[in-house]
Amino acid sequence: MEDCLFCRIVAGRIPARKVFEDDEILAFHDINPARPVHLLVIPKRHITSLATVDDADIPVLGRMLAVANRLAAEHGSPDGFRVIINTGRIGHQEVQHLHAHIVGGPDPVGPMLKRI
Ligand code: AMP
Ligand code: ZN
Repeated sequence: MEDCLFCRIVAGRIPARKVFEDDEILAFHDINPARPVHLLVIPKRHITSLATVDDADIPVLGRMLAVANRLAAEHGSPDGFRVIINTGRIGHQEVQHLHAHIVGGPDPVGPMLKRI
């Protein structure tokens, strides 16, 4: 996926402030943090979004969620956090490579959605 931003980060062709990686996933700081703690966790293998996953993706999806607690605690959100996975046009997904936002910090992150 030459033209995928997050595949390029996985390949080391674009720098990122990495905080964790294993053979299947990579986590790094969001470049434009919305909260004091704002990390992204991605599969290293290109998956476009939650709308395109299948049963073969269950292990990597589990891994992405399973690291969230430790990463949040290590980076300044020990008392909880929020995981957000924007999906598709309706979910306002801007980068077309599956990613989980982990957001938090010292204070509560506020209401879940802005009401329209
Ligand atoms: P989403 O709207 O869920 O697709 O969010 C995409 C996120 O990727 C945004 O929060 C951006 O700030 C973040 N982002 C975009 N480019 C980079 C980058 N080069 N490194 C880290 N985060 C990025
Ligand atoms: Zn990709």
